[in-house]
Amino acid sequence: MRIKKVAMRPLVIDNATICATATPPGHGGIAVIRVSGPEAESILRKLTTFLPQPIESHRVYYGWLHDLDEVMVTYFQKGRSFTGESSFEISCHGSDLICNEILQKLCGLGCRMARRGEFTFRAFMNGRIDLVQAEGVLDLIESGSKRAAQLALHQLQGDVSGRLRTILDQLTWILAHLEANIDFASEDIQIASHGALAEKGGSLLKEIDEILGGFKSGSIIRNGYRVALVGRPNVGKSSLLNALIGEEKAIVTNIPGTTRDFVEADFSVEGVRVSLVDTAGLRKTEDPVEKIGVARTLDKVKEVELVLYVLDQSQPLDSEDTQFFDFIPWSKTILIGNKSDLGGPVQGLAEKLPENPSIYIEASALSHRGMDEIKKQLREKVIRTLPEDSTLLSNARHFEGLSKTRSSLAKALDLLTEEESPDFIALELQEALQSLHEILGITFDDQVMDRVFNEFCLGK
Ligand code: GDP
Repeated sequence: MRIKKVAMRPLVIDNATICATATPPGHGGIAVIRVSGPEAESILRKLTTFLPQPIESHRVYYGWLHDLDEVMVTYFQKGRSFTGESSFEISCHGSDLICNEILQKLCGLGCRMARRGEFTFRAFMNGRIDLVQAEGVLDLIESGSKRAAQLALHQLQGDVSGRLRTILDQLTWILAHLEANIDFASEDIQIASHGALAEKGGSLLKEIDEILGGFKSGSIIRNGYRVALVGRPNVGKSSLLNALIGEEKAIVTNIPGTTRDFVEADFSVEGVRVSLVDTAGLRKTEDPVEKIGVARTLDKVKEVELVLYVLDQSQPLDSEDTQFFDFIPWSKTILIGNKSDLGGPVQGLAEKLPENPSIYIEASALSHRGMDEIKKQLREKVIRTLPEDSTLLSNARHFEGLSKTRSSLAKALDLLTEEESPDFIALELQEALQSLHEILGITFDDQVMDRVFNEFCLGK
């Protein structure tokens, strides 16, 4: 058997004119085929008979592609397109068959099929966007909520890059002055005193910490705010889930592959995707399968942003409840006394809790008592956790890179305080700069490129 080797993405743009369907496969009102590269205009001429001479950029032309389909064509001249190259788009009827025939014709005229993310890759290589912006394109395509889309759009427009570039400029300034000090050391000229450099470095460190501090919020906006419903079996967790999402038109899905499947419902709160997960009931059990379910629930409470701990408040507290109390992160937990239509509140609860949960809500999934209060609390938590900031980091690659910059800068500042040799300090600052260059794609290696662009689908 021949093993097909997957080639690494070449780190140069070849001379090819590339083509791909940009819309998802399947049936649709229309589909869009994208073409980009040096031969785009001459291929478009050969493909069509209805275009004027010269073709105007950014104008839509209508006509027939031979006997294939009735189409609209938009041409983008070199330097004024997404990729920066001469390119065009064909809007045809949304059928895989028609798209494939047009693609075949294009390939016959000299195009080659594009790789995943190759249009965005070319935009990056041609300097239209940096790597952070390229990732913004992907995030925007995949965003699952209004806030996630807004954040991705800002990233694509360069807000995050702009903030990182300011850090880059300041770091470069510090390094340049330090190096000038080295170069002119014998002449006893001080370009900027070490004190001034340390001060500038210190405020830069603060700025970096602020950006890093926003990553948690950014990644919650990007991936969703997770809430777990936890409690003993039969206290009404599933009923609460249904009551809470009933009016929110949520999509309830079973997540397969777990010991006792988690049921998850997604809905939107203040434009943020909130995932409500119903977990396996907490109970003392000898059944190995159920034991795993309980262990998974206890893991889940650590992961999520908020826990809704549900009690049946018509029943007295029993040891099954209290034995799990120590495992509940109360500071991020709202306690819900469900079945309040049957009685309650629970006697002696406060004495049994290891620490006070922030909120206790009496509720009834049956009569819907307390649902508005739960939603109000949830809304407040989401707003408090997720500040409006268009430069929030949301991508783990950026976070890792900036953390490296931070640690190199911190080392450089320590060395500066210890009055170490400027050469050592310069080395650390260069490392700090290098990590920033990698985030923005100013310097890059093929593995990073492959990782970033292979996440794209064809035609992007
Ligand atoms: P879970 O095992 O914690 O998910 O509990 P379920 O949601 O399956 O509910 C267990 C039982 O309690 C069902 O018979 C529900 O109809 C009932 N139940 C749930 N919530 C309430 C409530 O607020 N009031 C009353 N009276 N019964 C409830």
